[in-house]
Amino acid sequence: MRLKDKVAITTGAASGIGKATAILFAEHGAKVVVADIDEDGANQTVATIRDAGNEAIYVQTDVTISDNTERMVRETLNTYGKLDILLSSAGIAMRLPVADLPEEDWHRCLNVNLTGVYLCAKAAIPAMQKNGGGSIINLSSIYGLVGADVRAAYVASKGGVTNLTRGMSLDYAEDNIRVNCICPGFVETPLVAGVIKTPEEYKTLADKHPMRRLAQPEDIAYGALYLASDESAFVTGIALPIDGGYTAG
Ligand code: NAD
Repeated sequence: MRLKDKVAITTGAASGIGKATAILFAEHGAKVVVADIDEDGANQTVATIRDAGNEAIYVQTDVTISDNTERMVRETLNTYGKLDILLSSAGIAMRLPVADLPEEDWHRCLNVNLTGVYLCAKAAIPAMQKNGGGSIINLSSIYGLVGADVRAAYVASKGGVTNLTRGMSLDYAEDNIRVNCICPGFVETPLVAGVIKTPEEYKTLADKHPMRRLAQPEDIAYGALYLASDESAFVTGIALPIDGGYTAG
């Protein structure tokens, strides 16, 4: 029970990495607030957690709207009385180079992937300060560490998440609020399902990783569990690759 008595918000918890992490946090004793725009998916995550005898609620949240992120934290405090952990996993993919990228798609990608991280942290930090500290974990990407083709808005958003994480870690270190991000390689979730339709496409993507496979959501969730727990009490400002060696070369 590595998160006994902790209260955690997980955004993007209707699917993929956020869902796997919400379930793992709950298995380790956390009370979990499942925040997502996808009501059906989120309710399934809550049901999975409750079926295992653990605690969760759903708060419908669009991370690009400050009224929503503030309500997310307010309902967390109303239900569970405090906030210890924020995992920001809500995100979207965007696969176009700059000259082909419609301006509205650029703004949408930056709004969800970067502004969403800012708005969730902005809402959560006062509650964490009141609570004597906390742990914020943002989902960046290998593309928050290195560049990539055909993903202009996505790589810009993830570069922003990595450095926003570092900046926030400095601003709130003395409040005992730790801020870290995880930089996954390709993970088998609905976000990448669109680009893996055949075994050949899987192999092409897998071969980019020295370990020759894609991550499972649980590979990322275990990194988040470490960063959420008191085991990482002196860890802040890091960008942790979980990428099968992708960024090692
Ligand atoms: P996913 O598509 O499985 O899940 C993303 C979730 O975010 C969905 O439940 C979706 O409803 C939610 N969401 C989207 N927009 C939202 C909004 N405005 N407000 C609230 N919720 C919203 O994706 P995933 O693969 O689990 O990705 C999770 C995070 O990890 C993302 O930030 C993604 O960029 C990052 N990441 C993913 C991979 C990968 O290969 N899957 C690799 C590196 C980083």
